[in-house]
Amino acid sequence: MQVNAKTSPPEAIEQLLVDASRCVKCGRCLSVCPVYRETGREQGVARGKLSLIESQEDKELKRSSKKLKEIISLCLLCGACTENCPNLVEGDKIIQKARGVLFSKKYPALPLKLMLQHILTSPKRMDKLHKAGKLLQPFFLKKIPAESGLHLRFPLSSWGKNRVIPDLAKEPCLTKYSLKKSSAKPDVALFVGCVGNYLFPNITEAAVEIINQMNLSVQIPRKQGCCGLMAFGAGMDEINVELAKRNIEAFEKTGSHPIVAPCSSCSAHLKHYPDLFDEDEWKERAKRFSQRVKDISEFLVEAGYKPKISGRTLGVKRRLTFHDPCHLRRKQGIFDGPRKLLKSVPGVEFIETGTENLCCGSGGSFNVSHYDLSKKIFRRRIKPINEKKVDTVVTSCMGCFLQFLDGLSQEGNSIRVKHLVEILGEAFPR
Ligand code: SF4
Ligand code: SF4
Repeated sequence: MQVNAKTSPPEAIEQLLVDASRCVKCGRCLSVCPVYRETGREQGVARGKLSLIESQEDKELKRSSKKLKEIISLCLLCGACTENCPNLVEGDKIIQKARGVLFSKKYPALPLKLMLQHILTSPKRMDKLHKAGKLLQPFFLKKIPAESGLHLRFPLSSWGKNRVIPDLAKEPCLTKYSLKKSSAKPDVALFVGCVGNYLFPNITEAAVEIINQMNLSVQIPRKQGCCGLMAFGAGMDEINVELAKRNIEAFEKTGSHPIVAPCSSCSAHLKHYPDLFDEDEWKERAKRFSQRVKDISEFLVEAGYKPKISGRTLGVKRRLTFHDPCHLRRKQGIFDGPRKLLKSVPGVEFIETGTENLCCGSGGSFNVSHYDLSKKIFRRRIKPINEKKVDTVVTSCMGCFLQFLDGLSQEGNSIRVKHLVEILGEAFPR
């Protein structure tokens, strides 16, 4: 039985206990869990969490205790335990389910819950919040020196002292593109995502330009919204389903051409939509939708992308590496594609760090709720990159991108972080 938003709580709990009981406690996941590596505590890893979930069978135990909730929240949903489990136990999926099933109304923390329920589900409210944020930003967020670029510091200690937050976009990318007339015969539909819409429209624009450079036209459906990954991570399946339905409807109107997502976390989650529905009309629609979804690196490789050489590019020398987002490598099995694309850019010296499987510590809302631990995980990720003396880290997930932006700034590191399409975009003149 599949546990989802329609499943009644007793059945869902029963299924959860059955799934957790499949763990044979071999401990293989201990060596790969980023949380366990930093905390050294059994409760940090899948084995410990699954044991605690199993113990919920004992009715005498107080379910939904604060401590248990805290332990279940200590997971990046990175999937390293699942990838390495000899017993095929899907630790990350069970932990994600436990958040909704065991704690329902009490998970996640109230501010995040309200944001997911009332803001993320409404693109209009998101736009209003963006507008208000633009006005209030100068009062609540201190600028750090101009030479550091577009970064801002968030002064609330509960969100991480001096956390770097990028400047909000002048206007949402979707608003800008909705004013442009799209081609009568588009070849590609673009999924923008929240970060590409409100924080980094330049990344979305670079993706559009690269696709256009291949003589393909791009359509950007106005009615698309958040992919739902954050609601999924918080165990809020109903919100996740609502967001999935909105996106399925918005993209059904675009025909049958590929749906390309520049963010690898978005593309992984969009591909996972059929799992959210039982066997009904929506499941079929979700299947048709997800079959069209391509991560940007996957799309470009399949379409035979070759960077055009400009005089400017030839003068630039780059020593760079690629940080594999967990949602690209583990959840989509994509590893070679981004490397192939980057190596094709003139002037690029591509460096492997030999630690490509390390998580950066972002984990969706994990780096908000567990900021200090998330930064420890980041420091382990950046160490081998520092040793290879690269000048740029490239990635393709907006969550990883933000994590590197903040982590590098916190340690005064001069390595730059770039999105894959930004590097490819530099290979042709604008
Ligand atoms: S590797 Fe799998 S079976 Fe072994 S302890 Fe971890 S979750 Fe359980
Ligand atoms: S999903 Fe990642 S962080 Fe969570 S228990 Fe598994 S390995 Fe650890």
